[in-house]
This record gives sequence, C-alpha cells and structure tokens, in this order.
Amino acid sequence: MDCLFCKIVIGSIPAEIVKKSDRVTAFKDISPQAPIHVLVIPNQHFENMAKVAEFDLALVGEIFDMASSVAKDFGIDSYRTNINTGESAGQSVFHAHLHLLGGRTFAWPPG
Ligand code: 5GP
Ligand code: ZN
Repeated sequence: MDCLFCKIVIGSIPAEIVKKSDRVTAFKDISPQAPIHVLVIPNQHFENMAKVAEFDLALVGEIFDMASSVAKDFGIDSYRTNINTGESAGQSVFHAHLHLLGGRTFAWPPG
C-alpha cells in the first residue's frame, strides 16, 4: 500500500521518531504548528481513528497512553490532542493519527 505513514513505521521514509512500541509510533510532525507537535499513529494501517476504534478498541487506548507518555517526556502537563477524521475536518493523511500539540497556549473554539 502506498501510504506515507506506513513507510515511516517501517523506516523507508525518514522521520524523527520520539517513541515507539510494538503497536504505536510517535514522531515529530514535519510542519509543526506548536513548539511540540508529535503525531501518534498505530503501526498497523487504518484509514482513520474511527476505524481503529471499530476494529481494535484497545489500540485507541494505547495511542492515548503513548500521547500522555510523550507529553510527560517533554515535561508538559498541559497540551492539546487533536484527531481529524475526514477531509472537511482537515485530515490530509489517511493513516490514523493523533496530533499532540504543546509548548504554547491554544485558542478555543478551534477554527
Ligand atoms: P492531518 O492533516 O491528516 O490531520 O495531519 C497530517 C499531518 O502529517 C500534518 O500535520 C503534516 O504536517 C504531517 N505530515 C505530512 N507529511 C509528513 C511527512 O512526510 N513526515 C512527517 N513527519 N509529517 C508529515
Ligand atoms: Zn498507512
């Protein structure tokens, strides 16, 4: 499958990996929107996070657990996690991912 994030998981496309388990990978976003901007993804390909929940609910928990572990590693206890599902919500890469953003203040509601 021609998927950018699958290639990052297997190492055929370079990325700055910050943490990895046998089921989840965290790496720095190539176009950071905050001083800390990490993407947390399942190693297995799913189109979006709803599909992860449908087929492997425990994996959703592992993704959130990885996100809080990475936040702890960066020394932040205030951060935003964001999941874009579908094009009109801003999803541009169709391999499920959670955005972990930190290191600045964030506005609400989001744009
Ligand atoms: P989405 O818009 O799908 O929610 O988020 C996709 C994210 O992937 C974007 O924030 C974008 O900057 C990031 N991204 C796209 N291509 C690459 C890449 O080749 N490497 C890394 N590390 N991040 C990427
Ligand atoms: Zn993929």
